[in-house]
Amino acid sequence: MIPIAKPYLTQDEAQAAYDTILTGWITQGPKVQEFEEKFATYTGAKYAVAVSNCTTALHLAMIVAGIGEGDEVICPSMSYIATANAIKYVGATPVFAEVQPNTYNLDPDDAEKRITDKTKAILIVHQIGMPADIDAFHELCEKYNLKLIEDAACAVGSSYKGSKIGSHSELVCFSFHPRKVISTGDGGMITTSREDYYQRLKLLRQHGMSVNDRVRHEANKVIFEDHVEIGYNYRLTDIQAAVGIKQLEKLDWIVAERRKIAYAYNEAFKGIDFIQLPAEEEEYLSNFQSYSIYLKESCPLDRNIIMQELLDKGIASRRGIMNSHRESAYKKLYSNLVLPVSEDLQDNSVILPLFVPMEEKEISSVINTFLSIVVPTFTTT
Ligand SMILES: *Cc1c(COP(=O)(O)O)cnc(C)c1O
Repeated sequence: MIPIAKPYLTQDEAQAAYDTILTGWITQGPKVQEFEEKFATYTGAKYAVAVSNCTTALHLAMIVAGIGEGDEVICPSMSYIATANAIKYVGATPVFAEVQPNTYNLDPDDAEKRITDKTKAILIVHQIGMPADIDAFHELCEKYNLKLIEDAACAVGSSYKGSKIGSHSELVCFSFHPRKVISTGDGGMITTSREDYYQRLKLLRQHGMSVNDRVRHEANKVIFEDHVEIGYNYRLTDIQAAVGIKQLEKLDWIVAERRKIAYAYNEAFKGIDFIQLPAEEEEYLSNFQSYSIYLKESCPLDRNIIMQELLDKGIASRRGIMNSHRESAYKKLYSNLVLPVSEDLQDNSVILPLFVPMEEKEISSVINTFLSIVVPTFTTT
């Protein structure tokens, strides 16, 4: 069985977790701080704040950006549902806009059409690791005086116009779930260019506490903390951070390996006219968190039949990225919404296995099996 994904974890990560446990400091402490500093350096961001996952990162980003009751935030429906949920958490309304058919990323023109006097922010998503057109959205946000927030859950290690995702905006949120490119079990990070956001994010993730545990522990004078506002417990643990530091050291290599596999798939499928390959434009560099292809109408077989046949032959696959407005949690509120591009991409895209390390024979097995299903005249050479 070839799985859809698996995290790349080795003895290094296990040892780092082991060593951290034996230090006796296991929740947010020195390892979290080290991970944040290294993550900021890696992405080229001014500051980084570690949190428990990307959903909590997005929630805190909404709060510090000042989004609340009655506000509207434009985002893609075609994304993991956590994107929309984070907007709901602060009492605001997700306004779903269309994506571009070739990149799966939010369409700036369609987003602009949905701006009203209640719109406060645009939440872009770098879909399955492919950077969205950040500059176009910065321009749009400037024009209408909106906040721009990036959901970069899948985009750690991707880059846009020569710099890493995490360095382009005031608030960028990452995930370290095992389905993403590097993992700490669960985990998240927010990068920010603003000192005031940085300070507030650190307060909010730890109960609004003015003095953190580490500072109190190291102090030689008695200090008392104040809880300056109502915060949350969204901490990452030092055990997770120790794993994250090891993962970060390997990230560029992992991304390079993933890109090789994606390009091997592209090479194998490029001659088939009913397959639309992932579009990677000049100066956009994807980490290929997932490899998704779109099957055009001329595809001889139904997408779901292809997926079942792949499964029968030992190869896992997934449908295209979900549409939040079609899920039960949102369906009633958005019963009149139709997003033809997003819905079509969900229904007719298929995600193929991609993980590191992936052996040559696994890569060719995916290619040959897929081709033998969709191209009746295909013979392995
Ligand atoms: C995975 C994902 C999230 C949620 O990340 P968690 O760390 O699991 O909370 C949010 N947005 C997108 C686009 C994702 O892919």
